[in-house]
Amino acid sequence: MEKPEIAVAFAPDLHVFVGGAERAERPAVRIDGAATLGHLVESLGVPLTEVGALLLDGSPVPTSHIPRGGEAVTVLAVSRPQPLPGPARFLLDVHLGKLARQLRLLGVDTAYESIDIGDPALAARSAAEQRVMLSRDRGLLRRRELWAGGYVYSHRPEEQLRDVLSRFAPPLAPWTRCTACNGSLREATKESVHDELAAGTERSFDVFARCEDCGQVYWRGAHHGRLNAIVADAVREFGDIPATRA
Ligand SMILES: [Zn+2]
Repeated sequence: MEKPEIAVAFAPDLHVFVGGAERAERPAVRIDGAATLGHLVESLGVPLTEVGALLLDGSPVPTSHIPRGGEAVTVLAVSRPQPLPGPARFLLDVHLGKLARQLRLLGVDTAYESIDIGDPALAARSAAEQRVMLSRDRGLLRRRELWAGGYVYSHRPEEQLRDVLSRFAPPLAPWTRCTACNGSLREATKESVHDELAAGTERSFDVFARCEDCGQVYWRGAHHGRLNAIVADAVREFGDIPATRA
């Protein structure tokens, strides 16, 4: 006897996972009467972190719904901005170092490991520290331990930054966080950073800050145009500046 089927339609934002618009046009999907709708959607290539709602004949159903033959399901993408169960903090996988530095530049709490600690350790850290796991690895985003997760849709860091800011709308506080280690910056006097500055730097700048965690010294004005442009663009489009420090 032939197994029953359901029709599954994906929202345009999710077409990237299922092989383009054509294949997303209500393909008939065989069901076994036991697998949940969430499992079925994942098996079609869509991480559940990217799913905003599952609609059965227009009404939302949970991922635990067990489909029956003949049903028509629509899979919606997450809404933007997407609410989180807590403050917007992030954990980035080893491939997203540039994005990590840009988020820190904007004052967004961003953990990042430059070595690959493996999917189980990343997922455990996401859970322990309540951080949104950002990755382009669908396998990692399938891990149930994640506190929350988000697929990064572009290869290009500038687009990745806009993607994350528009999706999670984290509060921005540019120049308040160490881009090297994610520590908080505290204002420092010129005298206290004297030993770490070249003579020209000391003469040219008056506002200094030091990372509370790694000790790195920063000075206002030293950031070349590209970083200023990243901050200006992000603030114009996505944020306000609550308290700018050096
Ligand atoms: Zn630091």
